[in-house]
Amino acid sequence: MPDPYFPLAERFGEALKRDEPLSRYTVARLGGPADALLTVHSAAELAEAATLAQESGVSWVVLGGGANVLVADAGFRGLVIINRADAVQLQADGRVNAESGASLSTLARKCIAQGLAGLEWAVSIPGTVGGAAINNAGAHGGDMASVVRWVELLNVQGALRPHVEVWSAAQMRYAYRHSALKGAHGQYVLLSVALRLTPNHDPEQLGARADAFVAHRKRTQPPGASLGSIFKNPPNDYAGRLIEAAGLKGKSLGGVQISPVHANFILNAGEGTARDYRRLMMLAQRTVREKFGVTLEPEIELLGDWDEDTPTPPAP
Ligand SMILES: Cc1cc2nc3c(=O)[nH]c(=O)nc-3n(C[C@H](O)[C@H](O)[C@H](O)COP(=O)(O)OP(=O)(O)OC[C@H]3O[C@@H](n4cnc5c(N)ncnc54)[C@H](O)[C@@H]3O)c2cc1C
Repeated sequence: MPDPYFPLAERFGEALKRDEPLSRYTVARLGGPADALLTVHSAAELAEAATLAQESGVSWVVLGGGANVLVADAGFRGLVIINRADAVQLQADGRVNAESGASLSTLARKCIAQGLAGLEWAVSIPGTVGGAAINNAGAHGGDMASVVRWVELLNVQGALRPHVEVWSAAQMRYAYRHSALKGAHGQYVLLSVALRLTPNHDPEQLGARADAFVAHRKRTQPPGASLGSIFKNPPNDYAGRLIEAAGLKGKSLGGVQISPVHANFILNAGEGTARDYRRLMMLAQRTVREKFGVTLEPEIELLGDWDEDTPTPPAP
């Protein structure tokens, strides 16, 4: 059988890796091997890699910082494109353009230094501008939906050849940690994002505001390999409060633990598995539903080759 990755290998040479562990590319340090993996460094390369994969009949997915995905221990059958396309342009009037692989926190610091207000909340959020624009990342009262003007994407859906489209913020249908692109794997590639920030602010004041957010996080959130908040906060409540009230704060399974500091965080101590991480998530969901009648909806996404009958461990 011909190698479906041949066109990608021919174009990208040794940059195309085979059987590459995804734990190296996720913040939780979890995830088995991808059949193939390619790191791209420009929006043009990103579009080209996805187009070639699509034309070769290979399943593919884009990863930014891997800060919001739980990848299966069995890995991903297909091509994972690691997005490091990171060119950014800042204009004095507050218009900012960023390729989707740019680090969100680095971009936030650059904007602060230029006196552009509106991204201070983002200084300690791991991951890329693209991942943030897709998940409508937010913190401390700010979010991407408030600053995105438009996004440029490669549409790979349907019968048409992959083609570039520009979507307004309204077309992204932003909601709490949600957009029209969330979960649409293999259908769209986010290439770049245009933001509108507010110009002519004092960089020192913006920096002080950002530093206060960082200090607050250090006081309230655990360090270590995690995925940030696992569940969305239900209306008028907090997922962390509910999981704690259900008696699960500090609960361990194998090498993973519901954080004793913040119960909506699950940490991998180093030897954890994605399966145990997911089982702890399921335990939290089931216990909170049984005790309080509230269904916790994951904020993170599952990716890869999951064994669907992962059993839930017994309640404490
Ligand atoms: C310690 C910690 C703290 C966190 N705190 C917060 C917080 O305060 N607020 C918050 O909102 N989030 C938080 N998060 C979650 C995470 O940082 C955000 O969701 C972030 O925006 C994810 O970006 P990423 O580049 O890592 O996305 P990834 O995890 O790499 O990808 C997320 C999804 O987007 C898709 N994707 C990414 N880039 C592209 C692209 N260019 N084209 C097509 N699809 C793409 C992926 O396929 C995947 O489905 C935290 C995470 C951690 C680990």
